[in-house]
Amino acid sequence: MSLNKKILIVEDEVDISRLLKTVLLKEGVSEVFTAATAAEGLDLFHTVKPDLVLLDIMLPDGEGYEVCKSIRETSHVPILFLSAKTEEVDKLLGITIGGDDYITKPFSPKEVAYRIKAQFRRANYQLIEEKVKPVIKAGSFEFDEQRLELTKNGHVIELKPKELGIMMLLLKHPNQIISKEKLYDHVFGKEFYGSDNTVMVHIRSLREKIEDDPSNPQYLLTVKGLGYKLTVKGGS
Ligand code: CA
Repeated sequence: MSLNKKILIVEDEVDISRLLKTVLLKEGVSEVFTAATAAEGLDLFHTVKPDLVLLDIMLPDGEGYEVCKSIRETSHVPILFLSAKTEEVDKLLGITIGGDDYITKPFSPKEVAYRIKAQFRRANYQLIEEKVKPVIKAGSFEFDEQRLELTKNGHVIELKPKELGIMMLLLKHPNQIISKEKLYDHVFGKEFYGSDNTVMVHIRSLREKIEDDPSNPQYLLTVKGLGYKLTVKGGS
């Protein structure tokens, strides 16, 4: 591993924090900082400016997700969540909020080292990519892929993870029909095949947020028997 890296661990379980620190130093990370609360973690983040953050989800004074959101306001640093929860929903939430990966406890030191190396490789790669395509524009909509933020005529629209997934897919293919199958593959997962109701519920709530008149949609259209389409002017 590249030696010249600083890593911040935000974790209230001292044993885990200590183990991680030992592993990372052994792997050749030059500096490892530890914080045991969300507040301390954020403070340390701003003073130390680490190259990567390992972030526990359940902290005594708040949730790791909140820390992640706050970091994302100013930084694209790789963030790896540490958690004892394994549910898929948590995973999705973590990644959507801006985390880059997820490690479930208990973990092996080798796994942690491997994941961190992978993040550093990706971070270098992303620096190049970001300059090329940070924002998708389609008509009145703009989607910032890095911040995971949708705006309509400059106003931010708050979206839930699944809505975000649907919108991202539609925005990448404006004025094209997206089949339900494609929606399942990209957003819901194959286990949801056939549960059209789930898709409809999300489409409806998305319309509530993006349409001027949700009962008479102008943007997010249903194409009977085929799927959905985002209609925009000037979409590329
Ligand atoms: Ca904890």
